[in-house]
Amino acid sequence: MSKFCLYAWEGIYIAPTGEYSSCCDMTPVGDYTGIRDFYTSKEMNQLRQQLLEGDEPSACERCWRKERAGLPSSRTNINKSKLNVPTAAHLQAASAAPKISMWDIRDNNLCNMACRMCGTFCSSMWNQEVLSNPDITFRHAIGDSTVLRIPDPKHKDLLKTFSDNIDTVKMLYWAGGEPLINHTHWQILNQLVEAGRTDVQLRYNTNMLKLDYRGQNAIDMWRKFTGHVGVTVSMDCTGDRAEYARHGTRWTTLADNINHLLEYFRGGTHVSITSSIYTIHALPDTLKWLHSQGVERIIYSNVLYTPEYLCVDILPVEVKQDILTRLAPYQNADDGYNQIKYMLERTPVDVEQRRADFVEYTQQIDASRDQSVHTACPELSEYMHTWRQ
Ligand code: SF4
Ligand code: SF4
Repeated sequence: MSKFCLYAWEGIYIAPTGEYSSCCDMTPVGDYTGIRDFYTSKEMNQLRQQLLEGDEPSACERCWRKERAGLPSSRTNINKSKLNVPTAAHLQAASAAPKISMWDIRDNNLCNMACRMCGTFCSSMWNQEVLSNPDITFRHAIGDSTVLRIPDPKHKDLLKTFSDNIDTVKMLYWAGGEPLINHTHWQILNQLVEAGRTDVQLRYNTNMLKLDYRGQNAIDMWRKFTGHVGVTVSMDCTGDRAEYARHGTRWTTLADNINHLLEYFRGGTHVSITSSIYTIHALPDTLKWLHSQGVERIIYSNVLYTPEYLCVDILPVEVKQDILTRLAPYQNADDGYNQIKYMLERTPVDVEQRRADFVEYTQQIDASRDQSVHTACPELSEYMHTWRQ
């Protein structure tokens, strides 16, 4: 049976390293000088042929792993979407007929946050901190300049290829770094407005900290678009804890921005919570706060797996039980509760070492940022002193 995937025919993902794939889940299949070169390469034609023949190319392993576990994958999700309008061209591996229509552009890692669970590849702010502080041993710098960017010729190729394909764009997905401070993002949105292509879908994963960029405002810009605008705000907790867990956050600004977004895009607003050891204790209050603001779509099934020393399963058993008791009102309401329950109830491996790493990591980062876990997450300080090796 065919394993057709719309992304493989119409998608382009550009990583800050300058590598190309069809989507962010696919591992690169070669090294290319430009988007067309990638799109029409023999490796991509071969991958499409494999999909048509029902094979599972190894570059798409992330999808196969999910599908084998009975879970939705990027492939099944996009194929089910309204964007999937099959044509005869989709039955040809080397077809040049379907144009690039779905863009995921991450041409740099510029970010105005350095979240504790993130790192130098995704965040320039993290990279800057590691470059300037040799005492941080848990993260490694990427290159010797703060921001990781695609090389200039590839950036020019990106803008030109986008212009050449502007008539066939269906969807743009913007994620981090932080898309709302990415110059290319604003260039392309302005280009779409000028070309009258405000009917395209816009999708975001954003930390929502900064809505203004060089005299333009994100919400004003999105209001010009008639296609679906879906904004997923990444936010794990509220108040001082939010400023601690996602360094760079100014809580009152973020809360105001979320409310401003809800005013115009209530139906398209999602909040995505990634629970780590720093934030899980406050999850019931975070959910309560989001409900009180009128956020209808809250995704809290993301529970951090890596780095392992920040995973919730290393918490003491009685603390994990207490969190589950406080989350009881959400029991069986959705996948979020079940995923958290799974992580809190699984038997942690290598727990002594991971707890020791957690203490050392927290001390390094607290010292670097002049923050204190004891103030931001007082419940952790009650037992973490016993976790040192
Ligand atoms: S099969 Fe999965 S990994 Fe491969 S291109 Fe499609 S969505 Fe991406
Ligand atoms: S906002 Fe996103 S990209 Fe930036 S540091 Fe946080 S998790 Fe990483």
